[in-house]
Amino acid sequence: MEILEPARRTPVVGDHDVVVLGGGPAGLAAAACAARHGASTRLVERYGFLGGMGTAAGVTNFCGLHANVHGEIRRVVRGIADELLDRIAALDGLNEPHLVLGRIHAQAYDMAAYKCAADQLLASAGASALFHALAVSVALDDAGDVDALIVETKSGRGAIRARMFVDASGDADLAHFAGVPFEKSPDLLYPTLMFRVGDVDAARAGEAWREIPRLMDEATASGEFSFPRRGAIVRPQKRGYEWRVNVTQVRDATGRAIDGTDAEAFSRGESEGRRQAVDYLRFLRAKVPGFERAYLLDLAPQLGIRETRRILGDYMLTGDDVLSCASFDDTFGVNGWPLEQHVAGDVAWSWPAEGSRGYNQLPLRMLLPKPGDGRRVPRNLLVAGRCASMTHEGQSAARVSGACFAMGQAAGTWAAMALARKLALRSLPVGELQSALRADGSFLG
Ligand SMILES: Cc1cc2nc3c(=O)[nH]c(=O)nc-3n(C[C@H](O)[C@H](O)[C@H](O)COP(=O)(O)OP(=O)(O)OC[C@H]3O[C@@H](n4cnc5c(N)ncnc54)[C@H](O)[C@@H]3O)c2cc1C
Repeated sequence: MEILEPARRTPVVGDHDVVVLGGGPAGLAAAACAARHGASTRLVERYGFLGGMGTAAGVTNFCGLHANVHGEIRRVVRGIADELLDRIAALDGLNEPHLVLGRIHAQAYDMAAYKCAADQLLASAGASALFHALAVSVALDDAGDVDALIVETKSGRGAIRARMFVDASGDADLAHFAGVPFEKSPDLLYPTLMFRVGDVDAARAGEAWREIPRLMDEATASGEFSFPRRGAIVRPQKRGYEWRVNVTQVRDATGRAIDGTDAEAFSRGESEGRRQAVDYLRFLRAKVPGFERAYLLDLAPQLGIRETRRILGDYMLTGDDVLSCASFDDTFGVNGWPLEQHVAGDVAWSWPAEGSRGYNQLPLRMLLPKPGDGRRVPRNLLVAGRCASMTHEGQSAARVSGACFAMGQAAGTWAAMALARKLALRSLPVGELQSALRADGSFLG
């Protein structure tokens, strides 16, 4: 059944060079870099803070900033990410990098510091955010390009116009509204409700993350506890009395991953995630030394969504590209994170060969919606972040923060440079964009 809504006139509430949808790592980087390159830039975000899944889903940990290069762990994502990390560190909210599975580094952070550092970064670049604004539609012009992003806010519905748009919504919302074709896997990566526990006795907990998998197996074997997945990631934050817990896995009645673009399923997933968190806390308190007095310090504001729509772009980054450390002439940065597939009941890891270069380059073409089959796609739209053009396997690696920062930096710089040169996105010489990215500190591999 449907109802017919009356047609209405929508006020134009903004007019900018570049509009970026989403304030996660990709959108934050895109907006800051577009503004740095002279574009008047507005970032539209449904929450009241930046960071995307990194804050809204309580991730609290940067992956993909490093790669294992011929056996040596190195920082490979730089540029705007350096600046953000410096600002988080200045707020005393950044851990030293820690070793993951003996092969690569990740780096934890405090969420409040991330939110404040992201505000500072955006403001210092000269971009502004419109918070508490949910993008719900687009207006296309006669040529099929995006004229305005339509948002709903507490002030009502409004149209935000721009010459260029970057979709960094994670779910490809803007691209989807604009008719860009996408893929959605029948086997989406499973989502996780992240939480943190407080009042951990750091001295007694020690390196509990090494013991926890065994303790979970024992608790399962004895029938005392059952867990939604193996592969628990339970690690200390900067203050040792506070630990982050990445262990829930939320599925629908058929056992499939909850789809973050399915309103009913997403909604049910939230309470199921909380139920699992309470259950896991019971295990921690009962079985893990140092956690006897642990309590739920924080539940993430939303269920963490790893994968939904991925657009079809000029190139789709594949799992083979990641495992074979692929190179591309139109590289804008690199990904050093392995395939991290959140499958039913577990996390499956696949790495490039030991001793290899340890990272793949990322091609600019993965940010460009692909026209074809008599189909027009907007020529003033780039898509960055976990919804960029990647296969299911490729996305399981390059969805993490490091690659998303690189994608955002490339997309924002590209949009602003094309405007400044009065060129279409596809007409901006790749070499010029690459030179600008290098000059801004990016490592292109
Ligand atoms: C549980 C979990 C654990 C993870 N662990 C790690 C980890 O340890 N390290 C790591 O680096 N990565 C991790 N990741 C992956 C990583 O956090 C994300 O893939 C990354 O944040 C994606 O960045 P993004 O900018 O593409 O999108 P997102 O971070 O998803 O940001 C998208 C932003 O757009 C906004 N938005 C979306 N739609 C709209 C709309 N219609 N209107 C207005 N605003 C909108 C959202 O509110 C959000 O702020 C994890 C992810 C999950 C879910």
